[in-house]
Amino acid sequence: MRLRGVLPRLTTAPLACWSCAGPVPAAEPFCPTCKAVQPPGQADHFRRLGFARIYDLDPKLVERRYFELQRRLHPDRFATRSPKERALSQAQATSLNEAYETLMDPLGRAVYLLRVSGIEVGGDGKTVADPALLMEAMEMREALAEARTPAEVDAVVARARAEADASRATISRAFASSDLASARTGTLRLTYLDKLVEDARARRLNVA
Ligand SMILES: [Zn+2]
Repeated sequence: MRLRGVLPRLTTAPLACWSCAGPVPAAEPFCPTCKAVQPPGQADHFRRLGFARIYDLDPKLVERRYFELQRRLHPDRFATRSPKERALSQAQATSLNEAYETLMDPLGRAVYLLRVSGIEVGGDGKTVADPALLMEAMEMREALAEARTPAEVDAVVARARAEADASRATISRAFASSDLASARTGTLRLTYLDKLVEDARARRLNVA
């Protein structure tokens, strides 16, 4: 099944500034007219950091935009402002942090991009419906459970890391060609691979 063209349209209608009633473009943290800080609103994480809804983002650019906005929202800048402005700047900073953390994580970004495209990766409780994926997951779990030495655990980790790299490349290609079904499968795969690496790290401490 290939899902195409289901990306919802962005709401781009400007909102009215709470302070001067002037127009404020969606996701703009400050009023362009009176400079008052605005409520964070419903903008998605991409728009909040000035990106279109695409998977392949330059992490350096994500960081640069994040730090620039973070500076403008720093609590010191609002120390002498009204309680309302202090609260709004905090709400903006919270939304900004959430956007940054989501977009910087390849897995979190994939899950989120699918969600805003109307697809929940693990929402139906039957996440590993793909038999090949299920087999692979069980096999790698087994290899980890049977690993008795640090070297054996490391070998499982190395394999899971290599497969995770391959999954990220698959996800990137799938999103680039609007093949959301493949993006979802790749995201499910990356979910269990990331979890496996995490569990293997814990296991490494016990066999060392
Ligand atoms: Zn204003």
